[in-house]
Amino acid sequence: MEDDNDPAYGKPDFVLLDQVTMEDFMKNLKLRFEKNRIYTYIGEVLVSVNPYQELPLYGPEVIAQYQGHELYERPPHLYAVANAAYKAMKRRARDTCIVISGESGAGKTEASKHIMQYIAAVTNPSQRTEVERVKDVLLKSTCVLEAFGNARTSRNHNSSRFGKYMDINFNFKGDPIGGHIHSYLLEKSRVLKQHVGERNFHSFYQMLQGSEDKLLQELHLQRNPALYNFTRQGAGLSVTVLSNLNSDEMNHQAVTQAMGVIGFSPKEIASIHRILAAILHLGNIEFVETKEEGPEKGHLVVAEEVLVEYVAELTATPRDLVLRSLLARTVASGGRDLIEKGYSTAEACYARDACAKAVYQRLFEWIVDKINSVMEAQGRDPRRDGKDTVIGVLDIYGFEVFPVNSFEQFCINYCNEKLQQLFIQLILKQEQEEYQREGIAWQSINYFNNMAIVELVERPHRGILAVLDEACSSAGTITDRIFLQTLDTHHRHHPHYTSRQLCPTDKSMEFGRDFQIKHYAGNVTYSVEGFIDKNRDLLFQDFKRLLYSSTDPTLRAMWPDGQQGITEVTKRPLTAGTLFKNSMVALVENLASKEPYYVRCIKPNEDKVAGRLDESYCRHQVAYLGLLENVRVRRAGFAFRQPYPRFLLRYKMTCEYTWPNHLLGSDKAAVSALLEQSGLLGDVVFGHTKLFIRSPHTLVVLEQSRARL
Ligand code: ADP
Ligand code: MG
Repeated sequence: MEDDNDPAYGKPDFVLLDQVTMEDFMKNLKLRFEKNRIYTYIGEVLVSVNPYQELPLYGPEVIAQYQGHELYERPPHLYAVANAAYKAMKRRARDTCIVISGESGAGKTEASKHIMQYIAAVTNPSQRTEVERVKDVLLKSTCVLEAFGNARTSRNHNSSRFGKYMDINFNFKGDPIGGHIHSYLLEKSRVLKQHVGERNFHSFYQMLQGSEDKLLQELHLQRNPALYNFTRQGAGLSVTVLSNLNSDEMNHQAVTQAMGVIGFSPKEIASIHRILAAILHLGNIEFVETKEEGPEKGHLVVAEEVLVEYVAELTATPRDLVLRSLLARTVASGGRDLIEKGYSTAEACYARDACAKAVYQRLFEWIVDKINSVMEAQGRDPRRDGKDTVIGVLDIYGFEVFPVNSFEQFCINYCNEKLQQLFIQLILKQEQEEYQREGIAWQSINYFNNMAIVELVERPHRGILAVLDEACSSAGTITDRIFLQTLDTHHRHHPHYTSRQLCPTDKSMEFGRDFQIKHYAGNVTYSVEGFIDKNRDLLFQDFKRLLYSSTDPTLRAMWPDGQQGITEVTKRPLTAGTLFKNSMVALVENLASKEPYYVRCIKPNEDKVAGRLDESYCRHQVAYLGLLENVRVRRAGFAFRQPYPRFLLRYKMTCEYTWPNHLLGSDKAAVSALLEQSGLLGDVVFGHTKLFIRSPHTLVVLEQSRARL
């Protein structure tokens, strides 16, 4: 760690701070950031600050410097973390995972790409074709998923609007032989509406800007995104504000090419374009009520019928059926009789929007499935009874607080509570395992446990999600307001729950609309408006049947549930909240079974400016990521632990017996001599391979004696 031993660059590990205060933490973070040292450890956790500029920190030469080295031998880096995870996987056949967290724009996705690049670079030295193919698909899948799952937002011009967990499977030689992607909670409401200064998913603009004239004609599209309701808001905005992002046009070529490499057939790519086009046309469909009232109740018509033709043509479905699904829905009346129930304008708009969102979501999920099907692992690891060894990389939305927070933020923040819970459990577990391995007595440590908050959300029967599901199952009679009242009754004494009704003096909440959760990361007020609707996530069976009737096999494959007849659909589909909860429970279980590595990303300023670290802005993130707590936990039982060689590397100059080299038989003996001379023996414990230091003060003494030299 040549230059990281230089005090001018601050401490390479926050555990080395003299005192664990926010002041000291921020001072070190800022000092390092100003010297372009964007990475710092807390033990084995990597803290990363987005530099918003290209730094010469990456690429084959740097990768070579990290390859095969231990975490401590080089300055802190993502490559070191990737390498540690890779080595644990390869040497000990341990499944590992790298959990990347932080708020939007903090650099999570870029970090995950650097990790993938590292793994791609250090594997398959013998260039086996099959392994190269898997690596190609792994790397190219990112580009495709970003096109369909990312969008320009006010916080990040290339913001991932879905959570992603990717497993990479390795054979016993340590070469990637497959992979699997799980996606979580795509923000599909973005298909319909974007805030000022934001865009829809990149895919729409890429298709409009990048397609040849002929294709656009076939899709009945004009190039200008301002002509479509769904892309109008973001029409004037480009994605190329930052130098590392290409234009929509260039990206279109790159994405199409990547899809080819992955194994999407030209027919499938053509279907994808038709589906995107159909969504844009669907968005322009408007309804008019005709005056004449008849017993048939057929008084709603589509304003521009040609759009219905387009949608029918592009989705390869019968025009009449498209029209009917837009204007009415079929309901079972009594026994087997079916009747058509005409929509009001509002109902028709709702149904149209629900359809557009669902079509996009199914398209996205189909793309993920397609990538998964070509990445399915082929080889097996004989050391694990034929089970592969896996490195998982999690790049998922961080804690979110907006001026108005809705169901989506509620889910995202619940996800972060779950991950924080896991972090706590794993730290404990890991500490315990380490003490056992090193032959040291276990010491228990106290810190804030967010279990109560997780329970508040997910507990059966009374938890917020259960109460919400209950509200959703009662055929439309329960309003958001009643839902809120039920929450109030159940949780009036819960230490992490409040509402305006329970706390009339708190003006930050609106009466009858808001409730507040005291998250581990801070208080968030949620507006219940739309909670029931978003959780129910209703799409009428007519649309599903319509799309299943498509003669386009790609589109049809996305709608297997359209097979069911109206009368057969008796079981209520699981709600959005329950599905999300189930996927979170499974994710956490999966992560908990692996050896974890953590990357905690920090966004330096709100303006995406290079080289500027706004202290108060970062302080908030440091607080809610629990980084100070992390340092304290690390220092609580034993403030510091280090393998003997590493300890000598940093401190051997402080003792005549160890400088420049020792002759004491073992590094352990040399460390013992050094500590004896400094009178620090009373505060340490010798493990099999590591030295454990109890009080931070000892560390301070050691650091000071280094500094004096
Ligand atoms: P997140 O996934 O956390 O929302 P991203 O990884 O998309 O954030 O990063 C947002 C932007 O910040 C990127 O598009 C890039 O311009 C910049 N950025 C992030 N990490 C780095 C880095 N290590 N070096 C240079 N620029 C970066
Ligand atoms: Mg991202």
